[in-house]
Amino acid sequence: MEVRLATTRGFCFGVEDAIELAENALENDNANGRLVALGPVIHNKTVVQQLEEKGLNQSGDIEKLEEGTTVLIRSHGAPPETFKRAAERKLNIVDATCILVKRAQDVVKQLHEEGYKVVMIGDPNHPEVKGVIAYAPDVVVFDKGDDLEAVIPYRERLGIVAQTTHAPDHVAEMIAEIAKRPFREMKIVNTLCLEVLRRQEAAVALCEEVDVMFVLGGLHSANTRELARLCKQEGMDTYHLEGWDGFETSMAAGKRIAGVTAGASTPESVISGFVKELRTYDPSA
Ligand code: SF4
Repeated sequence: MEVRLATTRGFCFGVEDAIELAENALENDNANGRLVALGPVIHNKTVVQQLEEKGLNQSGDIEKLEEGTTVLIRSHGAPPETFKRAAERKLNIVDATCILVKRAQDVVKQLHEEGYKVVMIGDPNHPEVKGVIAYAPDVVVFDKGDDLEAVIPYRERLGIVAQTTHAPDHVAEMIAEIAKRPFREMKIVNTLCLEVLRRQEAAVALCEEVDVMFVLGGLHSANTRELARLCKQEGMDTYHLEGWDGFETSMAAGKRIAGVTAGASTPESVISGFVKELRTYDPSA
């Protein structure tokens, strides 16, 4: 089968940096086996498994870690309380928070200090969002489908940010909805990630050339899911898979050209493995 790849795909600098920090910490800090990541370093099973095999432990609870343990803060960041408790409990910290997530945290803090009621467009259950909103009190979080009347305060000065991995069209739609509500002032700070945007643009462009799209990446990866959503929005038959294991012949049957892209936390080995297999598949057989 003919396979074409999105011009921008796979690992972003934030994920590369997080993996490098984790690997360096494993070499330098884990002699006593006490390097613990607070949750998956990135949203990709293959990478997390590889780091676990090298000795990286994982915990969701900082209170259970022994004094002297080194904690790795993942690329999605963490609330300020986590850093405070780590210091109080005499834990060492390796901070792999992506600089763009850090910027979103700083923006939220600053908007609050300037007197804005901070509103974040994003998934309230996503670790990045949970971390970012902890940098100011009472941040309102909402996403498509939520009842804006219930969550957006009446006649307020609103300071608006968005989850870094959201697509601009989605954020614009949400802002338009907010603007229909009575508000005194609205200050929008663009916290979207350009790396994500480049992958989104490349995926949408590839949809013009192919008959079916495969979007590779963790099923929990927000930016991968957003890539799949955009391709579907283009009217393309789209499959979000973690790798070749998820492929079924019916997905490509009768198609001539397949497009492949991948989220920012998908390693090149997963992409190249998938492409190699797909190229040997004959959809007319
Ligand atoms: S996708 Fe963007 S915000 Fe997320 S880790 Fe990568 S560079 Fe950072």
